[in-house]
Amino acid sequence: MSALLEVSGVSVTFDGFRAINNLSLSINEPELRAVIGPNGAGKTTFMDIITGKTKPDTGHVLWGEQSRNLLGMSESAIAREGIGRKFQKPTVFEAQTVRENLAMALKNKRGPFDVLFYRKSAEGATRIEELAAEVGLTEQLPRTAGELSHGQKQWLEIGMLLAQDPRLLLVDEPAAGMTPAEREHTTDLLVRAAKTRAVIVVEHDMEFVRRLNCKVTVLHEGSVLAEGSLDHVTANPQVIEVYLGR
Ligand code: ADP
Repeated sequence: MSALLEVSGVSVTFDGFRAINNLSLSINEPELRAVIGPNGAGKTTFMDIITGKTKPDTGHVLWGEQSRNLLGMSESAIAREGIGRKFQKPTVFEAQTVRENLAMALKNKRGPFDVLFYRKSAEGATRIEELAAEVGLTEQLPRTAGELSHGQKQWLEIGMLLAQDPRLLLVDEPAAGMTPAEREHTTDLLVRAAKTRAVIVVEHDMEFVRRLNCKVTVLHEGSVLAEGSLDHVTANPQVIEVYLGR
C-alpha cells in the first residue's frame, strides 16, 4: 500500500468565497475512503479538483509513483491517467443492452480502431462477462439498460467505469434512492472494487458509510475536520457540533 494521491494545501476561491481552504489529504492504493460532510462542506469541489474541472488557486495534487502534478493536466488527460468519476445520476445508454453498454465502455478504453475486432473477439466477450459478474449483472446482459432498476443502472455505470481500468474511482452518493437490498449489493461491490484500486465514496448516508467499514474523512468549510474510523470521527465533539448544528 502506497500513496496514490496527495492533496496538499489546496485552496479554491469562488468570487471571494473560500470553498476549499488549505485542504490536505492522502489516498493509498488500494484503499476505500469515505468523504463525508454537511452540505456546502466542499465535497463536490474536492472531486472537481481531482478530475481537473476546477483548478485551485494554491496547493498541489500529486499522483502516482512519479508524483506527477495533476493540476497542470486537462480533464481528459487526468481521465487517461486512470481517474474515473461516477456522478449521482447514472448515464447509461438506455436503448442499448447491458452487453452493448459494457462493450462501448471497453471501446473507449481501447480506442475506436480496435473496437470492431475487440467486440467480436473472445477476449472482449470474456472481459464483458467478467465486468457483468463483478457488478452482479450477468443475468441482465441481454436486457436493455432502460429495463433495469435504478440500482442496476448504477451498477452498470460502475461496471462501465471499471472497464476503463481506473486506478482511482470517485463515486458520488452511490446509495441515493436505493432499496435496502440494493444498498447492500452496492456496499459489496464497492468494497470488492477497492481491493485492487483506490475508491473514494462521497456520501451523506451514515448507515451506508458504516457498512463500507473504511477510513472516513470529514470535510467542513473546505478543510479536513477529522479523519479515521467512523466511530472515531463521530465521537469528535467538533464533528458532532457541525452535524447537529450550534
Ligand atoms: P458539497 O458538495 O459538500 O455540498 P460544494 O463543493 O458543492 O459542497 O460547495 C462548497 C461551497 O462552495 C458551497 O458554499 C458552495 O455554495 C460554494 N460553491 C461551489 N461551487 C461554486 C461556484 N461555482 N461558484 C460559487 N460558489 C460555489
